[in-house]
Amino acid sequence: MKHFDTVVIGAGPGGYEAAIELGRAGLKTLLIDKSKERIGGTCLNEGCISTKNYLESASYVSKASYFTDCGLDVEVRGLNMERLREKTIALKNELRSGVVWLLDQAGVETFFGEATFIDFHTIDVSGEKIGFEKCIIATGAKVREIPLLPLDGKRILSSREVFDLTTLPKSIAIIGGGAVGCEFATFFSAFGVNVTLIARGAQLLTGEDEDISKALIRSFKKSGITVMTSTSILKVHVHTEGVTLSVQGQIEEDIECELVLSAIGRDPNTQDLHLENAGVQSSSKGYIIVNASFQTIQQNIYALGDCIDTPAYAHTAYAEAKIAARNLINGTSECNHHINPSTVFSNPQIACCGLSEKDAKEQGRSIHIKKAFLKVNAKAKINGDDSGFVKMIVCSHSDTILGATIIGGEATEIIHEMVMAVEQKLTSKDLANMIHVHPSVSEIFRYL
Ligand SMILES: Cc1cc2nc3c(=O)[nH]c(=O)nc-3n(C[C@H](O)[C@H](O)[C@H](O)COP(=O)(O)OP(=O)(O)OC[C@H]3O[C@@H](n4cnc5c(N)ncnc54)[C@H](O)[C@@H]3O)c2cc1C
Repeated sequence: MKHFDTVVIGAGPGGYEAAIELGRAGLKTLLIDKSKERIGGTCLNEGCISTKNYLESASYVSKASYFTDCGLDVEVRGLNMERLREKTIALKNELRSGVVWLLDQAGVETFFGEATFIDFHTIDVSGEKIGFEKCIIATGAKVREIPLLPLDGKRILSSREVFDLTTLPKSIAIIGGGAVGCEFATFFSAFGVNVTLIARGAQLLTGEDEDISKALIRSFKKSGITVMTSTSILKVHVHTEGVTLSVQGQIEEDIECELVLSAIGRDPNTQDLHLENAGVQSSSKGYIIVNASFQTIQQNIYALGDCIDTPAYAHTAYAEAKIAARNLINGTSECNHHINPSTVFSNPQIACCGLSEKDAKEQGRSIHIKKAFLKVNAKAKINGDDSGFVKMIVCSHSDTILGATIIGGEATEIIHEMVMAVEQKLTSKDLANMIHVHPSVSEIFRYL
């Protein structure tokens, strides 16, 4: 039986980042995933990279009318989905080889198969026993499936199968008003697909403040997306031409569409690991229970990323991986989750960090809100998109910036300045005194 200092299960952003850190520290490290193609995990294979590559094409279409107005002689005649799919696969392969190279440089060994625990020092990987001193579980999450919406890969798709489409549907109903649902609504509507976005909650993006959700819904409606909030699916009928969804919102009605995309959430990938054999505990929802140092109740086993109950982002998994790997070697550092930026690459983009207005009020903080609209920002106008605003949550007593939300073009890029401000406990005066490049979208912070 082969024996390693550390074994990392799952080669997504959390797993490969941790393995690289451990390998660089000189530990004999093995990284396991189900197949070589899974290196990069959800993020690379069917998450961040694929969605953002698709959305980038959509962002050009949404700006086309402004730039043709500026005299540019272009005409968007549609989208060759097959070509976009091929380019995305090529991009993923290129990025995967970059990760393989980094693993190689760090001296990390890889092995492919399905890992399950035999005990707290041994795993079985598709019939092969492997021993370890310490282990990191980074098995991520998987698409949630419910009996009402049985995924068939033809008419009812998840965010996984949607990347197999080689032609655009005429119409699509997207179930789920979270980040994934909003991003796909943006993509399909940019190319003229008739999109109905159905959310069970009273607003889109339930974690965000109400004014942000309202602004997003306004933009979606303007771009032709039908948004139905407080709406539940009652019945799903698949037939030869498409799908009939019976829904209950303000009234009971039927929606006809060619395809349904289920974006109702993700569940931790922990059921098949036989955690009980290793004495590792999980919650009723399946999340592995860890302390602030990412250590499970079994002291030589750690867990991180989407398989624990922290924000489900690749950047969170990266941050947790670095800290967990260092803790595994020798330490008790913690992650600054309270600042964790969250992002939605919809049109308009949304990004926030630190406390939202809702969070701050729930915590009984004395705050005031500073808002500035991109309508006054020269670069936003030059970029062809001056919709949206920046909202900063500031402590009334100390002027310290507690959090911020940006809705509008470039939000996912300019949020980093706010991450730094919250992390470094800067005041809104500090920010206003900083020299910002002119013209830039970030300059909007001068007006707060
Ligand atoms: C459509 C979509 C868009 C997204 N967009 C973004 C975005 O723009 N930005 C962002 O930050 N995040 C985004 N995310 C979230 C992001 O992809 C995840 O948060 C991130 O991939 C989590 O990383 P992870 O390492 O914890 O797990 P994963 O990336 O899920 O990797 C886990 C790996 O473990 C493997 N595995 C599981 N069980 C076993 C086992 N028993 N044995 C061996 N291997 C196993 C799996 O095959 C998988 O490769 C998106 C997600 C989706 C679905």
